[in-house]
Amino acid sequence: MKPLLKPAEECGVFGIFGHPEAAKLTYLGIYALQHRGQESAGIVASDGKSLRGHRGMGLVTDVFAEPDFDRLQGRAAVGHVRYSTMGDTSLTNAQPIKVDYLHGSLAVCHNGNIVNALPLREELEAAGSIFTSTSDSEIVIHLIAQSGVRDLGEAVPKALGRLEGASSILFLEENRLIAARDPRGWRPLCMGELGGAVVLASETCALDIIGAKFVRDVEPGEIIEVSVKGVKSSKPFPPEDPRMCIFEFVYFSRPDSRIFGRDVHRARKALGIELAREEPHDIEADFVMPVPDSSNNAALGYSEGSGLPFDFGIIRSHYIGRTFIEPTQHIRTFGTRLKYNPVKELLADKSVVVVDDSIVRGTTSVKIIDLIRNAGAREVHLRISCPPWKYPCYYGIDTPTREELIGSSLDIDEIGRHIGVDTIYYLSLEGVRRAVGGRQMTPEEVAGRFCSACFTGEYPTPLYKEYAKDMLEKGLFSSKMF
Ligand code: SF4
Repeated sequence: MKPLLKPAEECGVFGIFGHPEAAKLTYLGIYALQHRGQESAGIVASDGKSLRGHRGMGLVTDVFAEPDFDRLQGRAAVGHVRYSTMGDTSLTNAQPIKVDYLHGSLAVCHNGNIVNALPLREELEAAGSIFTSTSDSEIVIHLIAQSGVRDLGEAVPKALGRLEGASSILFLEENRLIAARDPRGWRPLCMGELGGAVVLASETCALDIIGAKFVRDVEPGEIIEVSVKGVKSSKPFPPEDPRMCIFEFVYFSRPDSRIFGRDVHRARKALGIELAREEPHDIEADFVMPVPDSSNNAALGYSEGSGLPFDFGIIRSHYIGRTFIEPTQHIRTFGTRLKYNPVKELLADKSVVVVDDSIVRGTTSVKIIDLIRNAGAREVHLRISCPPWKYPCYYGIDTPTREELIGSSLDIDEIGRHIGVDTIYYLSLEGVRRAVGGRQMTPEEVAGRFCSACFTGEYPTPLYKEYAKDMLEKGLFSSKMF
């Protein structure tokens, strides 16, 4: 399993109903959502009579070739990108999952983690279900098949009512597309429109790429059915306090997206402004620089809030792909150098504020600070645009175990010493809430609507034996663990 250097989003979903080029538009949609998962991709399309799919391991551009779309005909499609977790880097877990069952054909793809997945799986296995993957989506399919209800529109709320945890989920059958968001609304899901076709996507950047108009967010607890009869909305679940993922604003979502009613760029820039406002150290820096690209917006905000000039002290390569050529002589920062290169002329003898969005294990930060110091920086002041990440996420984000999170084992000064910076400061949770709320919500309202369990350890659901001991310490799980 690859080392986790940043928290990793687990999935992105896209669906469209009522367009003659549904599969090709879905390809573009999941291409725009590639940041939400890079290990597998898939599309299932419907021509009104049957479903056909194609999925594979790798980036969207690696998985699909022009001839694949000859098979993916029809006016409706769903697509998915996935970041594979728990060591299960295999095609069987790629989505959408497509099945033929008693009532027809069905494709499912979803974003989030179902925290009671293992008890449900055990119950379903005891009742005769046979699983072919470790994916949560397959659990949903079995719940639908065993619901005893013929109509998918009735089976979906019955099946989803059994789930605890995060799910923004799409279903496609021959003549209907159904979208649902769990009652706490952890993961984003929005609805758009393109020439009469209905579009559903994890983020609005996927609407933009195909020229679709944003209509609205799918609300927490809402199910939307789309067919030739039109769009039908329902809210069949008992209401819960929403718990939208605050970290989507800090790191996961694209800055050109609008999620949870707020544009990400502005929220992320506001995180930097708050960081500058909270600045506790009396530092004299020459400029502020981001760890590109995910921290660009927060660093811009810090620049605006502090009055320090903004510049790019390190440049990120966007073309690294996979490499098999490594120098035989040990170079401490080799892996990091593939991705980042310092601008020596800019850094020489300068005091810099470096803004980053998060520190997971600390290994990448050590290497980046090394690069900056070796390029001649005199002083390095690290600023993080959220509080220390102390607790694992069980709601759709892949994080290491608690012991591996540097924020849980070291205090902030120790982290600074470990990373090798002159000063370090993390934005307070109050500051994050102020930035995310903007002019629309007070920090108290944000606290009441957003999840921040990775900072506080206050999980809004039972954890079902810590998500079954973190899916057996990140290996393939066994349902015999209870
Ligand atoms: S624990 Fe953190 S990353 Fe996970 S859903 Fe909550 S805020 Fe988001």
